[in-house]
Amino acid sequence: MVDRQKVEKLIRELIIEIGEDPEREGLRKTPERVAATYEFLTSGYKEDPKRLINGAIFKQETNNMVIARDIEIYSLCEHHMLPFFGRCHIGYISREGKVFGVSKLARLVDMYARRLQLQERLTHQIARAVMDSINAEGVGVIIEAHHLCMMMRGVSKQNSMMTTSSVLGSFHESVATRNEFLALINRPRIM
Ligand code: ZN
Repeated sequence: MVDRQKVEKLIRELIIEIGEDPEREGLRKTPERVAATYEFLTSGYKEDPKRLINGAIFKQETNNMVIARDIEIYSLCEHHMLPFFGRCHIGYISREGKVFGVSKLARLVDMYARRLQLQERLTHQIARAVMDSINAEGVGVIIEAHHLCMMMRGVSKQNSMMTTSSVLGSFHESVATRNEFLALINRPRIM
């Protein structure tokens, strides 16, 4: 658990240190709000992927490729503790007919995103968790994100988007499987 009072004290000190007045009307409750916000934004450390996924894996007859596209992602870069945000696309092929319940992949993404992260590591952790939890034949994860640390600081790179990918198992070994994944992700929406 985050010691909220301790974090509030630290934020109060930070406010003073940057030359602001923590007693000013608009800032009086800021340390409290920031402490609560950070507790939420880093709550992923306390969650266990096994417990989160448990019970939300279903059996189906075939082992077709499953795609979850455009999962919103919000995380904090570990270098600046500023947000990066974008979209995550996941594809996998099950081995034993095991598939995830629809909302579980999004919960899994949130769990790893609510930590101090590098986009590369986040991408890989999601792929690894999908792979391991259903013993998948293969997994592919792509994240496209904007980093506020690049957009807000110094040289403006407002439109830069960073793309990272992680491919495991058959997505790594088979060019055809990887291409099918990429084609499904890039396919225009039907509705
Ligand atoms: Zn950064």
